[in-house]
Amino acid sequence: MNPYSESIELSAEWLRKALPLMSRQAAALHPVSYAVWYGYVAQRDPALRAAVDDALAREGRLDEATTLALYQRFVAGFDADAAQRVADGMQHLLAGMADSAQTAGDRTASYGDALERLSQALSTESDRAGDAVSAVMADTRQMREAMQSLQERLAANQREINQLRDEVHRARRDAVVDPLTGLANRRGFDEAMAQCLAIGIDSAAGVWLLALDIDHFKQVNDTWGHGFGDQVLRAVAQLIKTLVPPESTVARTGGEEFAVLLPASDRHQALALAEQVRQRVSAARIKRHDSGETLARVTLSVGLTSRQPGEAVQAFVERADRALYASKQAGRDRVTELPGA
Ligand code: GH3
Ligand code: MG
Ligand code: MG
Repeated sequence: MNPYSESIELSAEWLRKALPLMSRQAAALHPVSYAVWYGYVAQRDPALRAAVDDALAREGRLDEATTLALYQRFVAGFDADAAQRVADGMQHLLAGMADSAQTAGDRTASYGDALERLSQALSTESDRAGDAVSAVMADTRQMREAMQSLQERLAANQREINQLRDEVHRARRDAVVDPLTGLANRRGFDEAMAQCLAIGIDSAAGVWLLALDIDHFKQVNDTWGHGFGDQVLRAVAQLIKTLVPPESTVARTGGEEFAVLLPASDRHQALALAEQVRQRVSAARIKRHDSGETLARVTLSVGLTSRQPGEAVQAFVERADRALYASKQAGRDRVTELPGA
């Protein structure tokens, strides 16, 4: 999906703003720089803005390396799958080596024991034979020590790799999860959509999409503060999550916007779910954590549509958004279905 949905006019405005900022930096004016500065002026991601401001405060100007690092971190996204494969491969390799070292160590130990017995048997027989065996035994001890230190080093490497794997797991999870609500984020939603459509190609049951947006949420923030606004977002997210069937994906696709991807459902089920979510949210009373006061009410506007056979994801998502917009236009706190063309 194209992550840039701005109009020509708006994008021209960002270009005008980005160019002077870009040209003040030490990095060349290539698309990587532009993507970073475009994201900065368009305020696409508060984390990117903060990171750029930090880098500027620290370094004065963004050089090539910092620009590229910002691009990779905030624009290009993190190829978690590749990192995961590398970590898994390393882990496998090291586990194999540790096993071999263990076996070799065990063999050296039993060889040493055998020599020890031989030495005792020979010591009474002849001094020369005893000396020769002692020399071999000293060598064996050294070998055993070397083997032990190898084993220890391998074990340490393995611990490091395990740590790396955990970090990759976390990073992978963070890349697709919204930290505020624990729902899928926009990227997680895109992945779930791609997966759902890939699997469901010959599925007879429909794929439905609900687009949901909290009504007059700005007023919630203005009246009760941003902190309580966040609490409302978490509560609404939880409520939606408890109502949808397990095979569906619930995502927070924007500030106070959510989406439910509902595979293998018919129209009746999809409409009933949309209506139930709307009703349950409007019936909920959310308490403030600090004072225990209740907030009168939050409502949701919902748009609903089903995917047409072979339809592009973008057209599907846009229709759900249009259905949501129609709910807003018609007075909010309602469900609108837009049938496919
Ligand atoms: P409408 O019924 O037309 O949807 O009105 P609205 O006020 O909900 O919509 P609008 O788009 O004007 O405002 C959305 C508000 O959501 C503005 C923004 O401050 C707030 N918001 C976005 N993300 C967050 C967030 O993470 N936490 C909080 N507390 N507020 C957020
Ligand atoms: Mg909105
Ligand atoms: Mg809203």
